[in-house]
Amino acid sequence: MRDKNCRIFLAHNSCLNSAYDLKVLSAGLVSGGYEVVTRPEDADEVLFSGCSVRGKWVDDAINQINEIHARAPDARITVTGCIANVSAETVRDRAVASMISFQTQAQVLQSRTGLDFEAIDRSFSQDTSQQYESDPGNGLSQLRQRVGPEKAAVVAQLQKIDREFGTALALRYQRETKGFVFYHEVEPAELITVTRSCLYRCSFCSIPKGRGPFTSVPFEDVMSKARAVSSFKCNTSDEVQGQH
Ligand code: SF4
Repeated sequence: MRDKNCRIFLAHNSCLNSAYDLKVLSAGLVSGGYEVVTRPEDADEVLFSGCSVRGKWVDDAINQINEIHARAPDARITVTGCIANVSAETVRDRAVASMISFQTQAQVLQSRTGLDFEAIDRSFSQDTSQQYESDPGNGLSQLRQRVGPEKAAVVAQLQKIDREFGTALALRYQRETKGFVFYHEVEPAELITVTRSCLYRCSFCSIPKGRGPFTSVPFEDVMSKARAVSSFKCNTSDEVQGQH
């Protein structure tokens, strides 16, 4: 089922949850024979996973899609993630590229490789060094990176307060906001998905629409990933202790 044009560039402006799903998708595409490239110019197809939580994130996604299209005008563009479910019309109206398709990440994987997204996720371990959103090589101007200097200024202010009053506010701020702005800023973390989307239908929230139907990962899958991570961490810390 491998596509003839199989070099794919992936990018996103989504949150940690959707970014994780894009990494699962990437792993599935690679196991289905696709090559993931790091610059749009080298791609036959672009997959963009967009956030639709607010207008400015939709604007940011559309800007990036336009930027990518300008750099790779012949690449086919597929938009996925929450924005594909919530704001497809807006993207269609404002994107420069005329040929854009919209699919869920599971549909992308199924249609190109025949593989099942959840089956790939069962054995997937994230590569924490792989961060499409901050890959300096792709050169995209992104909201998350633009927020970076603002956050750095907040951290500097908090560090000043910490020095004066002996508090630890800067560390707490960095820990609590790292998923939103800078991934792994303080320490690496292993994500283990337990559920996807949400059971409820609150009127103020678009997550059920954006993230699709609620699904629950089998308990044994969650436990086996947790065991793998904790044994890796124990081994690593044993090794570190053994060096001193
Ligand atoms: S809409 Fe919500 S769930 Fe979807 S990428 Fe944005 S923040 Fe994440």
